[in-house]
Amino acid sequence: MDKKLDISVVVPLYNEAESLPELVAWIKRVATENKLSYEIIFVDDGSTDESWSVVERLKAETPEIRAISFMRNYGKSAALYCGFDLAQGEVVFTMDADLQDSPDEIPEMRRKVLEEGYDLVSGWKRKRYDPISKRWPSKFFNLTARIMSGIKLHDFNCGLKAYRRKVVKSIEVYGEMHRYIPILAKHAGFSRIGEKVVEHHERKYGKSKFGIERMVKGYLDLISVSFMSRFGRSPMYLFGSLGTLMFLFGGITALWIIIDKLYSQFNGLMWRGVTEQPMFYLALLAIVLGVQLFLAGFLGEMINRRSTDRNHYLIDKTIDR
Ligand code: UDP
Ligand code: MG
Repeated sequence: MDKKLDISVVVPLYNEAESLPELVAWIKRVATENKLSYEIIFVDDGSTDESWSVVERLKAETPEIRAISFMRNYGKSAALYCGFDLAQGEVVFTMDADLQDSPDEIPEMRRKVLEEGYDLVSGWKRKRYDPISKRWPSKFFNLTARIMSGIKLHDFNCGLKAYRRKVVKSIEVYGEMHRYIPILAKHAGFSRIGEKVVEHHERKYGKSKFGIERMVKGYLDLISVSFMSRFGRSPMYLFGSLGTLMFLFGGITALWIIIDKLYSQFNGLMWRGVTEQPMFYLALLAIVLGVQLFLAGFLGEMINRRSTDRNHYLIDKTIDR
């Protein structure tokens, strides 16, 4: 890279052909007005409409555009992850392609990163133009995420965010984890996380790409993300300690049952056979479970040695400078 680039705007898109021209024009206008050098990185997440040809057409008149397109639909997280890989700006933005997020927020969010020293500034759609079926579950998730992560954000899943470049180069956004990027960032060591109230708009073209299944997925992801940030690096701490507890409980109980039986038998007291006591089976179960938990811990540690990498995503086409 020869000269310093002020901002990168990473835009994941899946069937958003109609929105793209307006989005590019808007980002361009904001960047020019604020004298910011910029690049727009489109990641076409396996669109089946004309999105890619629109991108190619836009590229012809806007050299600041760079773009990749996936072989198939991998999901928003994969798109962001690969977009982050390309980004070269000093401050990297993410923005949805559907015009719900406003590029007008860019200068102020950039200022917060550069002058107030935030690693990550997340948008907060205080006034939100989405159906209630989306707003309410979202409130619940944000509350849970806040409690579990200790990060004081109102809107974890806002598509509009600004990052110091180093942040996006350091996090692995996998699965459906785009909802919890601030948690991933914090886990990676970037703890200065702020937010800015942003304008939100109704979807102008097309329809939302996330249905009701987002609730189930969002909930499961929250569990894995908090698990990962607590035990991801050392699963043995969790599974090993649980396994040890189980194993000790089972072992001691079984021993006690056997000794008690032998003692009673030899001293002419009332006694029951070991296998006639329900507790004995519970003890056996606990021993087996304990060993299995231990094994899970070992497996986790072994899997840990190989982490995911970007080459995992097949790139179909590329536009680059
Ligand atoms: N998106 C994507 N891949 C997907 C689903 C969505 O790249 O599999 C993009 C989509 O094109 C949009 C952004 O992610 O730019 C947010 O999606 P959407 O607007 O459907 O989500 P909502 O605003 O309803 O939460
Ligand atoms: Mg949207």
